[in-house]
Amino acid sequence: MRKPKLGQNFLIDDEARNAIVDALGALGERTVIEIGPGHGAITSILAARCRRLIAIELDPALAAELRFRFRAAPQVEVIEADVLEVDFAALVPAGESADVVGNLPYYITSPILLRLFAAGARGLLARAVVMMQREVADRLSAAPGCREYGLLSATTQINARAESLFTLPPAAFSPPPDVFSTVLRLEFAPRFVELGVDAAGFDAFLHRCFAQKRKTLANNLRAASHAGARGYTTEELHAAWPAEIPALARAESLALEPLAALYRALAPLGQNAE
Ligand code: SAM
Repeated sequence: MRKPKLGQNFLIDDEARNAIVDALGALGERTVIEIGPGHGAITSILAARCRRLIAIELDPALAAELRFRFRAAPQVEVIEADVLEVDFAALVPAGESADVVGNLPYYITSPILLRLFAAGARGLLARAVVMMQREVADRLSAAPGCREYGLLSATTQINARAESLFTLPPAAFSPPPDVFSTVLRLEFAPRFVELGVDAAGFDAFLHRCFAQKRKTLANNLRAASHAGARGYTTEELHAAWPAEIPALARAESLALEPLAALYRALAPLGQNAE
């Protein structure tokens, strides 16, 4: 029985499922992790192409169906688990990286992406081809200053190069969802070293910068953080403020470089203004 709560909209467009696997490139030597294989629309194509396929499915009935279907395919391993609980490091052989594919369960798109970025930053993942709600994909690949640009865009773009590949209408799925869906390729290429910032501290800083969309960057930084750190004083911000950032700029209008410059200039005060 279909479980709508698990985001079960199954892909029925043959051209699209082939295009998704094609977008991963040559797979003969690769380990691929599939998130939410469902009835195996993408799994069956992957199984024939990659060296090893690890399919993570939360629904016990679907996991059992897939295990049975691929019982004669030793390269396919079906793990019945919540993808948000799976330790990617335990799946990827030491010294190697894996690729990820998935028509994602849309209700947990952002937490899945954050886990992928964390694994990418550890060198465990090379690329991902993932389908998500069109509006979310637009945010991931938006440029600073665009209406769609925000914290998720900045977080994505410091971790990966995001490329929107194609968009599908609801009729490509059974049952059809209420939204259009976009397939996106992410090449994991963390920029923390290049920008001279540490991952955890800069992530917390970005949350502060984007805390309230209508506020200027300075006003967001003057406010206490959700994590309980005090706000920066006007004098502290004035002393650290890079010339390239307009005084009334909002974080949504700025590229990562000036935000990193501000972060580095504020660092002597303690990364969370404690
Ligand atoms: N890949 C299939 C396809 O394209 O037809 C199914 C995609 S469907 C949008 C999402 C799949 O993710 C469903 O099979 C659902 O059961 C599974 N799923 C939902 N939540 C999950 C979770 N937390 N961990 C792993 N799989 C999950």
